[in-house]
Amino acid sequence: METHQVEFAVVGAGASGLMAAGETAQAGPTLVLEAKQRPGKKLLATGNGRCNLGNSGASPARYHGDVARAARVLERFPPEKLEQFWRRNGMLCRELDEGRLYPYGMQAASVLECLLRRVQRRGGEILCDFPVEEIRREKGFFALSGPAGKVRARRVILACGGMAAPALGGNPSGYRLASALGHSCTPLFPSLVPLSTLPERARPLKGARSLAEVSLWAGSRGVASSRGEVQFTGDSLSGICVFELSRAYGELTDAQKREAELSVCLMPEHGPGDIFSFLRTAASSPLLPAQELLDGMLNRLVAREVLRAAVRRLPQEASELRPPQLSAIAARVRDFRFPVTGTAGWAHAQVTAGGVPLSEVDVSTMESRLCPGVYLTGELLNVDGDCGGYNLHWAWATGLLAGRSAGKAADPAVHWDVRL
Ligand SMILES: Cc1cc2nc3c(=O)[nH]c(=O)nc-3n(C[C@H](O)[C@H](O)[C@H](O)COP(=O)(O)OP(=O)(O)OC[C@H]3O[C@@H](n4cnc5c(N)ncnc54)[C@H](O)[C@@H]3O)c2cc1C
Repeated sequence: METHQVEFAVVGAGASGLMAAGETAQAGPTLVLEAKQRPGKKLLATGNGRCNLGNSGASPARYHGDVARAARVLERFPPEKLEQFWRRNGMLCRELDEGRLYPYGMQAASVLECLLRRVQRRGGEILCDFPVEEIRREKGFFALSGPAGKVRARRVILACGGMAAPALGGNPSGYRLASALGHSCTPLFPSLVPLSTLPERARPLKGARSLAEVSLWAGSRGVASSRGEVQFTGDSLSGICVFELSRAYGELTDAQKREAELSVCLMPEHGPGDIFSFLRTAASSPLLPAQELLDGMLNRLVAREVLRAAVRRLPQEASELRPPQLSAIAARVRDFRFPVTGTAGWAHAQVTAGGVPLSEVDVSTMESRLCPGVYLTGELLNVDGDCGGYNLHWAWATGLLAGRSAGKAADPAVHWDVRL
């Protein structure tokens, strides 16, 4: 089997790895090793194929994990700087709702193409079907090996990502490689992920969507809440507003998780009094079947389930409903509860919470403090962002910084195309 020898080996052709390789390739021979058949598989799936590549409001407040140290990286890469980077590389961004940034053509493929062109134009190479299983130090080099062969490199960028979405490349090998080089790892859990509920509660709602305010409760303690569209998948509650609560759920203790519930407020703009009087008016219309009482207000599937939960024996006609029953229905509209039985797991998660602590990395360069010559980037680290482009922002920032620092360490005389 052929052994390649290069200056820089980048493990992982994902968001941060390709960004880093575009930098190192300016300073010396660069080889990107990718476990999957093709580079950037996850990147192509981001933002439903449109790639929400950043957010104009990116700031440390939108991140979790080792935030104080992450802030030192983020302050070097404000959103304007990354937008400028894309523009200089031939790609324009557009800003949509809530500061979300996308490629102007709304295709993730254009972001991947831009990154690949940058690596290849500078002579970098990408080897696919090359899962790295071991990294060892060997007389001034690192030896990276796996079933596809062996590579010797003076500097290594670990850009393996995290555990989320195994079908798109998520796997634990990055943590194992980092651990063999002396690193630790904080507990990992899936984040930005649907929350599961009891099948008998979820099944009748399959396919329904409602605009709502969703709150996570642990017993009598309100933990967090978020507004947006809730999607009922048949075994879980999904949608960005639920994703946002999933991180808070992951941080609960086991005892708190056992009593966790989601409260869905289906008419957050209206108080219980308002809803009661609307129901009383609706109920007074002659010949309205009781089970259609909420059809003028809510998604039909949701409306039927709210009624079932609120009133034990529903009369034939809405006009037969008594005021206490109407109050109970109004209360359910504002507080429709679902026990949380867990998350939908890594397969459905967008990001990994937890990872290699930033205290083990020099955040001015992304170089390992424990194994000089190795740089760590992206989701592998103990930093994760909210939904809205923040995770890719982190991947770009750490990839650029690691690639540039490794390049400078190898060849301080290089003329860099973009100032960082
Ligand atoms: C469905 C989905 C949608 C998302 N949408 C968005 C979005 O719109 N906006 C946003 O900001 N974030 C989004 N994210 C999150 C974002 O994609 C990730 O946080 C980001 O890609 C992380 O970048 P990374 O470079 O750390 O890892 P990745 O992009 O995951 O890249 C890691 C690469 O390393 C490879 N690899 C792993 N182990 C090895 C090994 N041992 N040897 C060789 N190669 C290896 C993997 O195959 C993969 O290609 C989404 C995630 C998912 C799953």
